[in-house]
Amino acid sequence: MTVGTECSSGIVGLAGRDEHLVPAVRSAEFHVAGVVLPVVSPARVYVCGITPYDVTHLGHAATFVWADAVVSVLRSVGVHTVSCRNVTDVDDVLTSAAVAHGRHYDDYAVYQEFLFEQDMAALRVARPAHTPRARHFIPQVLQLAAALLATGNAYERDGSVFFRGIGAVATSGLSRDRALGLAREFGDNPDDPMREDPFDVPVWRPSTARDPAWPSPWGWGRPGWHAECAAMAMAEFGASVDLLIGGQDLTFPHHAYQSAMVQAATSVAPFARRAMHVGAVHYQGRKMAKSTGNLVLVGDLLRSYPPAAIRLLLLDRPWQTEWEYHEGDIDAAAADLETLHAAAGRPNRSAHAVGAVTAALLDDLDIPAALAIARDDGGEAARGLLNLLALS
Ligand SMILES: [Zn+2]
Repeated sequence: MTVGTECSSGIVGLAGRDEHLVPAVRSAEFHVAGVVLPVVSPARVYVCGITPYDVTHLGHAATFVWADAVVSVLRSVGVHTVSCRNVTDVDDVLTSAAVAHGRHYDDYAVYQEFLFEQDMAALRVARPAHTPRARHFIPQVLQLAAALLATGNAYERDGSVFFRGIGAVATSGLSRDRALGLAREFGDNPDDPMREDPFDVPVWRPSTARDPAWPSPWGWGRPGWHAECAAMAMAEFGASVDLLIGGQDLTFPHHAYQSAMVQAATSVAPFARRAMHVGAVHYQGRKMAKSTGNLVLVGDLLRSYPPAAIRLLLLDRPWQTEWEYHEGDIDAAAADLETLHAAAGRPNRSAHAVGAVTAALLDDLDIPAALAIARDDGGEAARGLLNLLALS
């Protein structure tokens, strides 16, 4: 029913009518990475999840807290939002860690996943609607491999199915040398002489005795990393997603190849309407990583600080920017949280503050601007924002 149909004199304009009868469709104002991304329910949000082999550090938490915030922002403007966060539980790094601990890979993965879920729950990260595990999606990977072979985008070689990846490199905008360096860094093994081109990557590959293995038309084997995420995303959301979220270091090769595989298999492009790659967290001058050992563990912080202080530390900054964590930062965030709660207890100062907070959130998730409004204006604007971002 349109607004004007109740009027006996025919269709009327909106002037003079109660504005509340005409809900503003603010999801059309949503900008990500500087470009408008109008979304229609359901919004499909795919978050690249963990490889469950080690404890959660601040760098991991940043990605998942930001993904949680995006979902909350979309829901706050009435968009039905469905999120998915996968678990990469078939991975050589995980296999090595499980072997080192004398455990079977899936047994070890379930234990690590349990610890991760505890950290996420403590950080008030809402559980996504879908949490696919790679080992449950082997049939979909086999279908993906068959589709890529059928369309000429892959070839079989000695039990492996290789995806032709030069297109993923071309669209990444990276130089050949930089792309080769990243492919080596992330274990894509571009120097493998079996491949027709260094940028081809396995959709399927044979397993050694210690690896998990499943039967396939090409022999016993296991999926490649990028193919796992491509298959899980397609299984949950079909040929495309509205937002593809992950840490900055997943931009290439992982998300470039995931997207290229889905597009090649489905003829639907783009796979991801927009990507959100959350800025890396540095500590002691280097990117926080297990390999360098410069970790700040979420579990350690949670022993001394409220979860809302950790969320505030992660969210009060531009999402795409790398940053360095310093020891005093969490104390500053805890103090700021007190300031925000005090502001929330004040009466409203401005009738426009609530709308201004929403506008800031829709403007590339400008949480620093939204928080500044909340601090200054207090009242309902502050209460609403603290609730939305789970900072209460
Ligand atoms: Zn992924």
